[in-house]
Amino acid sequence: MRAVVFERYGEPAEVREVADPTPAEHGVVVRVEATGLCRSDWHGWMGHDPDITLPHVPGHELAGVVEAVGARVTGWRSGDRVTVPFVCACGSCPSCAAGDQQVCERQTQPGFTHWGSFAQYVALDHADVNLVAVPDALSFATAASLGCRFATAFRAVVAQGRAAAGEWVAVHGCGGVGLSAVMIAAASGARVVAVDVSPGALDLARKFGAAECVDASRVGDTAEAVRELTGGGAHLSLDALGSPVTCAASVNGLRRRGRHVQVGLLPSPTGSTPVPMARVIGLELELLGSHGMAAHAYPEMLELVRAGVLRPDLLVTSTIPLDAVPAALAGMGTAGGSGVTVIEPWS
Ligand SMILES: [Zn+2]
Ligand SMILES: [Zn+2]
Repeated sequence: MRAVVFERYGEPAEVREVADPTPAEHGVVVRVEATGLCRSDWHGWMGHDPDITLPHVPGHELAGVVEAVGARVTGWRSGDRVTVPFVCACGSCPSCAAGDQQVCERQTQPGFTHWGSFAQYVALDHADVNLVAVPDALSFATAASLGCRFATAFRAVVAQGRAAAGEWVAVHGCGGVGLSAVMIAAASGARVVAVDVSPGALDLARKFGAAECVDASRVGDTAEAVRELTGGGAHLSLDALGSPVTCAASVNGLRRRGRHVQVGLLPSPTGSTPVPMARVIGLELELLGSHGMAAHAYPEMLELVRAGVLRPDLLVTSTIPLDAVPAALAGMGTAGGSGVTVIEPWS
């Protein structure tokens, strides 16, 4: 098969022939029809993820067709249209038993713990626990965005963030996950303030339901801007980019008893990120993490997609072939995005 491979961190990846994967006993191999390009892939390529060993094939948000099935898989057959959460759970640890597969203790992640979906085929573990059926009405390109960004945003806004109608929700960083969060929070009836350095990203945020926008390239203190626009601060705020600056701005833009949800990854050479904890105490803020979404939680989201309440299809702004991935991956380093790029490995 053809795949995007990198041999060294931060050096150009290349597209080349590699061996086809085979399914584990409990796993499947999926023919990749579409796979999203995400900032996490860039972090992996830069060497920020300790799970990766070289050489490596990135790619973790995908949709496609089951090609081969392991002997112990009971729920899936070749030909099934599927997607998968980027956290593939083991199905048997205490967290999985509690229904918290998104924080599985023995999780695997395609594109991180093993070769991912920037390829024509990808192997996925524990298929009966992790695969999600993709309805015929949903295109592979749209379904690919569900695996990481849209599902992650859905859990962050709805489950962890508990967004409620009438509340102010601030979203710091309007790349793929941030724009998804804007759309989901607006659909929940919340009033959304979108923050980004890119006017293009803010235009999309407005299109997806943001009531207010803050251009961080022109506003010195974005937290202050959010507090002013919301009459004292957001009820819920997300750092959807993942940087010490956006994390602190998200916490500082909250009102009393507000909730901060950290969604963007925060790799750091020192292993920690400063958080304004004095404000957390004084205002009784809640700090929450959000890490993907379990496969069993997908039906609620898919029903909203089917009904047209949520439109992940609108987030897909460009489609590229495998050959364009090395350059696109390198380009993810510059902050600020404008929608979701989907790769079609067979085009
Ligand atoms: Zn588990
Ligand atoms: Zn991702």
